[in-house]
Amino acid sequence: MTGTVIKSTGSWYTVKSEGEIIPCRLKGRIRLDGIKNTNPVSVGDIVDFDIEEGEEQTGVIKKIHERDNYIIRKSVNLARQTQIIASNLDQAILVVTLIFPKTFPRFIDRFLVTAEAYSIPSVIIFNKVDLYDEAVMDELEFFELVYRSAGYKVLVTSVETGEGLDKVKAILKDKTTLLSGHSGVGKSSLINTLDNNLNLKTSKISATHDQGKHTTTFAEMFELSFGGSIIDTPGIRGFGLVDMEKEEIGDYFPEILDLKEHCRFNNCLHLNEPGCAVKEAVEENKLAFTRYESYLQFVEGDDDETYRKDIYEE
Ligand code: GDP
Ligand code: ZN
Repeated sequence: MTGTVIKSTGSWYTVKSEGEIIPCRLKGRIRLDGIKNTNPVSVGDIVDFDIEEGEEQTGVIKKIHERDNYIIRKSVNLARQTQIIASNLDQAILVVTLIFPKTFPRFIDRFLVTAEAYSIPSVIIFNKVDLYDEAVMDELEFFELVYRSAGYKVLVTSVETGEGLDKVKAILKDKTTLLSGHSGVGKSSLINTLDNNLNLKTSKISATHDQGKHTTTFAEMFELSFGGSIIDTPGIRGFGLVDMEKEEIGDYFPEILDLKEHCRFNNCLHLNEPGCAVKEAVEENKLAFTRYESYLQFVEGDDDETYRKDIYEE
């Protein structure tokens, strides 16, 4: 039989096949793409499995179909270990808020760069707009411009007033979407409001709790009653830049990639090279300084510390 993995709890996988839910496990070793990861099967995977004889209906996964794409998380605790969070995604939505809590541009950019690296289109939703005062509205305007001109879809919403929710629904419809964002930004409220059948809860992680031990986080796929599905990843709010070469990072900032051909040197890293079109664009306010600062931080490789703070300080 063939089905979709909708939940992974480490040793058991929940597989949905022809409307039925079947708990499955892995037998033996399944080798995949040579990726070194802690969990070979991920939510979103299409798998072949055999039904096992027994009291309850369970299955054994024997094959994972080739993935269209996947998104990986670098484990903060286990050096060099990676975890596939989800596969076969149509898009990733990052929900952010400029206050209560504040999402910083570095967090947004790291998310976007990771999604670019895995060729997953991203959408940014600025939520809780009902709470923004004039100063925060100005900030919102700035970021809308920054990300729209980089080519991203940007939505502005309020679960409180209903603003923008129809647009979110239209984007989710009939797609498989990874849902991300700091806890408290309103992800579950947003989804529960759009689909009364769902009752998503998000688990908050505390700084003291999680840093020392191996945390297992369970992604889960939910079907939307109006078509499509979302993958919620409680506890995974950030992505590390997994195995990226300095030279390729600029290619994951669409507006930097566009400028690159105008740099004097074709291997320009846009640091201090003469004739750099990227630096020139920053000076002329044609490229957002926040984006360039993120770029610099990622290239200089001093991002890991911030990354840890980003995913744990909530
Ligand atoms: P999650 O952790 O991202 O799933 O966030 P929740 O959905 O649990 O929301 C966190 C808090 O923010 C809850 O108290 C929500 O009622 C509140 N909230 C969510 N969206 C909005 C919004 O658009 N405006 C306001 N004022 N509050 C919101
Ligand atoms: Zn350059």
